[in-house]
Amino acid sequence: MPTHDLVIIGAGPGGYVAAIRAAQLGLNVACVEREPALGGTCLRIGCIPSKVLLESSHKFSEAQKGLLAHGIKLSGVELDLPALLKRKETVVTMLTKGIEALFKKNKVTRYAGQGRLAGPGKVVVEGPGAATELEAKHILIATGSKSAPLAGVELDGDRVGTSTEALSYPTVPKHLVVIGAGYIGLELGCVWRRLGAEVTVLEFLDRILPGMDREIAADAQRIFARQGLQFRLGTRVTAARRQGEGCVVEVEGGTPVECDRVLLAVGRVANTENLGLATVGLMLDERGRIPVNESFATSAPGVFAIGDVIRGPMLAHKAEEEGVACVEGIVKGRGHVDYNLIPGVVFTHPEIATVGQTEEALQQQAVPYRKGVFPFLASGRARTLGDTDGKIKVLADAQTDRVLGVHIIGPAAGELIGEACAAMAFGASSEDLARVCHPHPTLSEALKEAALAVDGRAIHC
Ligand code: NAD
Repeated sequence: MPTHDLVIIGAGPGGYVAAIRAAQLGLNVACVEREPALGGTCLRIGCIPSKVLLESSHKFSEAQKGLLAHGIKLSGVELDLPALLKRKETVVTMLTKGIEALFKKNKVTRYAGQGRLAGPGKVVVEGPGAATELEAKHILIATGSKSAPLAGVELDGDRVGTSTEALSYPTVPKHLVVIGAGYIGLELGCVWRRLGAEVTVLEFLDRILPGMDREIAADAQRIFARQGLQFRLGTRVTAARRQGEGCVVEVEGGTPVECDRVLLAVGRVANTENLGLATVGLMLDERGRIPVNESFATSAPGVFAIGDVIRGPMLAHKAEEEGVACVEGIVKGRGHVDYNLIPGVVFTHPEIATVGQTEEALQQQAVPYRKGVFPFLASGRARTLGDTDGKIKVLADAQTDRVLGVHIIGPAAGELIGEACAAMAFGASSEDLARVCHPHPTLSEALKEAALAVDGRAIHC
């Protein structure tokens, strides 16, 4: 029976990063994956393909109307949707093959098939051929998540679908109804809006992007509405189904909405079925996740879990950090993730990025804070780009000036937030951020200005 120091189930960002790090640390590592391509949801049907579509659709929309202000006249701009979708597949294939190469380089053994626990120290891989039994000193569950279902919504894998279908619609929908104004609904809603669809977003809450800073989310809603997204907030979807050539979506207390495609994006649930958890005595929590301690150890000796199957935000970079911390804990006895410093980014245009505490969270905890805001309208670089929507908001402790949260809506927000993460990881004050010399003319100056604004000293506004 093949024996390994560590058997990882799942080759998404959590699992494959943990595998590589464990191999670097000298462990004999195996990774079990049921899909033909490595990389998990993120690479195959999540972050990466959606970013390709966001980039391509943004270029299309710029070409259609965005370049006149730059003195560039284009005519005959046409969408070649099959070519656009093919490029997405090419990017995904290149990246998933890249992980295969990294596994080879690091001597990670790959097993193809569905992995499940079969008692202490045992994993069974059920692949296309005979099942393989593996012996493992340590087992790491990194099986990720899948789209959450919604009662009454009859998914048909085509017209009424999830993000997986919305990454590959063969034609631009006439009217797309998106259920849920979270990360997925907004990113993919924006993609198809830019490509020409009428898009209606139905959201149960009275706001979009729950969990994000409310002021930034309100700015985002205004900007997306200007881009043509129609929002119906405070709207609970109770049913959706295919009807003839189109679909119908029923909402509580309102008239049904007709459309030709439905995208269900109301969250994700952990992939924990058929994992043989009971064979090692593991139970799930009330939300179907695997309970772990701060070292990612489950209650079963030698069994660990990371990423979307445990508590915390369902984000690729969070899973990666946990994967590294988990295997470093196994090998070196220590590993650490700072959950206050997990950034979040929505890759719409403008992008929205966040790290640390929101203003509402500080108010709820009665933490005294000071706030500095700098609008991109006042940024020289944003002006040159013609991309002035949005702002940066820095929240700092009123007594110590330590930065507690940074929230950005604007050009390259997802890149800019990295500086805030680094500063906060080193315990920076807003004064520290404000005193760092930033290159001119760049968008990063807006972060310095927002930090200066905490003390009422912004120069350009
Ligand atoms: P989400 O939790 O971000 O948003 C779901 C939304 O659906 C919420 O606003 C919720 O109020 C709403 N909703 C729930 N029930 C409803 C109903 N019956 N009718 C109308 N609205 C309803 O979920 P998501 O957008 O599906 O994303 C899932 C996960 O994937 C998130 O945890 C996110 O972190 C991750 N993700 C991240 C990125 C990124 O980092 N850019 C992109 C995509 C997904």
